[in-house]
Parts: sequence; structure tokens; C-alpha cells
Amino acid sequence: MKSFYPALFVIALASCGKKPVVERSSSPVTVPASLSETPLFYEKQTPVCRSEAELRLNNLINFNLYLSGKMDELQGSLLGLLKDQKLRDPEGKIISSSTYGESIELRVSRSGYGRKVLSKPAELTVCAEDDAFPENTIESVGLNSSRYITRAHKKFESLRSGYVLAPVRLSIMPSIKQSRTLLGPAGYEHREAYWVDNAIYNPGDATITFLPHSLEWSNAGNVKFWNIPMVATHEYGHHIFTAVFKAPLRSPLTHSCFGILRDRDPRSGSREVTSYSILMAYNEGFADLVSYYTLEEHELDFSGVNCLEVTRNVESEVFYDGAPKVFSRAVQDLYFSKTPQPWNNCRLTNYQEVHFFGAIFAHSANKFLGQLTASDDEKYKVLIKWVRYLRDNQSLHANMEGRRYLRSTFAELLRIGVKHLNRRFDEATCQEAEKVFEGISSELRECAN
Ligand SMILES: [Zn+2]
Repeated sequence: MKSFYPALFVIALASCGKKPVVERSSSPVTVPASLSETPLFYEKQTPVCRSEAELRLNNLINFNLYLSGKMDELQGSLLGLLKDQKLRDPEGKIISSSTYGESIELRVSRSGYGRKVLSKPAELTVCAEDDAFPENTIESVGLNSSRYITRAHKKFESLRSGYVLAPVRLSIMPSIKQSRTLLGPAGYEHREAYWVDNAIYNPGDATITFLPHSLEWSNAGNVKFWNIPMVATHEYGHHIFTAVFKAPLRSPLTHSCFGILRDRDPRSGSREVTSYSILMAYNEGFADLVSYYTLEEHELDFSGVNCLEVTRNVESEVFYDGAPKVFSRAVQDLYFSKTPQPWNNCRLTNYQEVHFFGAIFAHSANKFLGQLTASDDEKYKVLIKWVRYLRDNQSLHANMEGRRYLRSTFAELLRIGVKHLNRRFDEATCQEAEKVFEGISSELRECAN
């Protein structure tokens, strides 16, 4: 996955002025997965509400969702999703606002980087005169996303862990055009393309963004991310991780979570896995677990979804290509290897890639805790306690060598789990620990003898 620094721009998006202003920055601009010259923007079904009446919240409306491995239309209530006609919860505690129609241009040239606001975001309204929303409307994208963000919030609240989550902003299909002037054989050439095919969480301003999909994505028959319940809940999972971890980070916990993930440029030479790289993989795995503990089985069926199928199924023992999800010695060696594995296909396992390593974490943590309890809520509580432990030990961990950090923090997760569930490290438990993480029993003094 390419590194990128969208926080700068997303923060700037939220604070745009009245007139288009070009701002300069010396920060590098790279892309959160994919660029396309043919983004598919949706229109709002009803641009301006004609009636001031509110939708009857108990009325059932249609949600266009990917459930049980296929697109489906689900009848659901709007209860808790609207305030007046605006798409946010009645108290604004979960979603402070949902916006659409935002348009910015990022200019990349030899003299630097600039950002121009072409149009400001507008708050999304859902009009009382509408009682159905076609799949390809802004309203449908917003309703799906807010339904599952709200669900993830309510699940977290039900655990009564004591953390107060700040409301998020939901940004629907912003137009982020990247223009670049390059010197080619025929002189200067101007190229333009849009950020597409991803969902992003930005901790800088607590925004969950659904980028538009591209024509290429659509032509390939891919499912759209806002139709997949796991995507919105995963993004909200990053919000929860950020809230519990709660600390200034060396770089923002910004994630480009889906799409055709690309690894770092293999020409970039030697890689180094730090404790921070592992924290990022934990964050990805944690977000997958938030989805897993929030959603029901039919909402977690990714059959036919490129990059998610099998691979991001927490229960699956293997990735899409059959490679095992286990912290074996071989996997650890590959992960900590200084030689980057070239890779550009999410169907092929790359143990060095943050989402793959995160998926091993999610599977292993869930599997070990599943031996101690059948309750997903209790497993979820253990994970929250463990993120709190990561938070409290940041200074100790900051300069810890990568391998040591992985071993000691994973061992601590097992300890917290065993303690929380009033169990002890008997022989069977130690064996289970060893099954998910080869060599971990030597880190656990409770298992040493
Ligand atoms: Zn993510």
C-alpha cells in the first residue's frame, strides 16, 4: 500500500473558505490506492426537499445492500438515522453531519502542491417526499453508511466500556481531482485523475469518507463499498481504536482500507518493521474484529467481493489463495524480513502487507479468545482492555524492536483475555496460544515449565 498523507487535505476540506483559494504545501501528495479518469459520481435523488415535513421514522424504506453474498433490497426503519431531514442521529452524537457535493483539486507541479476548493460540501437531507431510493443515488449511499456506522456505535456503547466516542462526519463521494503537469517529449502535459475506489478514516477530523468508484471498477463487476456492511463498520472500528488509544501519534492513523491494495514500491529498497508498523496492523485487525462482533452472519458474507472474500473473513483459517493465517515462525520471518515482497494483487497473500498481517491478528485473537468464551461481547471487551494497555505503555513500546514488540504485546493480549474471563494458563490454554503464535509460550512465564 502506498503511503499517503490525506489528513492534510481532509482537514483542509472541512475548513474551506467562501472563495476558491489555492493553498500551497510542501507535503508530498500520493494517492489512497487508485486514481481514475472516469469516476462515477451519483446525483442526489431530490436536490432540494420540497416539503418541510419529516419522514415518518417508523416507515420502512429500502436499503440497497450486499447480503448473503448478493445484492439485495432490505426494508428498514429510519429510526435513529435522521434529525429533521438531515442524515445524522437525532442527538448528533454518532454522526455530526453527512455531506456530499464536495469538490477539490489537488495540483501537483514542479513548484509544489496546491489545493483549490471548487465547491463546498452540503449537508445531506433525506426528503419526506421520497419513499424509495435507487441504488445509484447519494441518499442510498448515505443511508447505508449511516445505518452501519450507527450500528457499530450502538454495539460499542452496549459494552459499557466507559469510553465516549466523538461524533464522526460522513463524507459521501467527494470529488478529489489530482492534476499534474509533467514535462514529456512533446513539452508540458497536463493530466487529471480522481481519487476512487476506497473508503478512508481520517483521525485528524474524525471523518469517514466513501470515495466514488471508477468506471473500471464498475465494469469489472465489483461490489460497491457502501453496499457492504463490513466496510462502514470497519471504518468506524478505526474511530474506536483511535478513541481508546488516544495519543499523539508520529503519523496520523489514516487508513486506506480497501480497494485494490498496493504495497510499497519494491524499488524503495530495504524495509524496516517498527513497533509502529505493527500497531498499524493491529489497528487494521481490530477494525475487522469490530465489524465481526457488530454484524450478523449474512452481513459478513463476502462471497464474490474482490479482496475481501475469504481473506477478510475473521473465522477463515486461510487467505483467499489458501495461505494460512497463523503467526508461524516462517510468517514472522517473512514479516520481519528486510527484503520487500513485490506484490500488486490482493488475491495473493503478502504477509508483509498491513491488512494481511492485521487479518492474521484478527483471526488469531478471535480464535484464542474463542477457546475461553463463546461470547463475542466478552471478546470485544478484552480487545478494548488490550488497546488501553497499548495506550498506557506507549513510551515503553516506542523504541522497542519490532519482533519483541509483537511478541510481548500479543502475549499481553492473551494474559488480559485469560484474566478477564477468569481462566488460567493451564496446559490446554498454553497449547492454544502456541497454535496461533508459534513460540509465544516462551514469552508467557505462566506457560514456562
Ligand atoms: Zn482499515
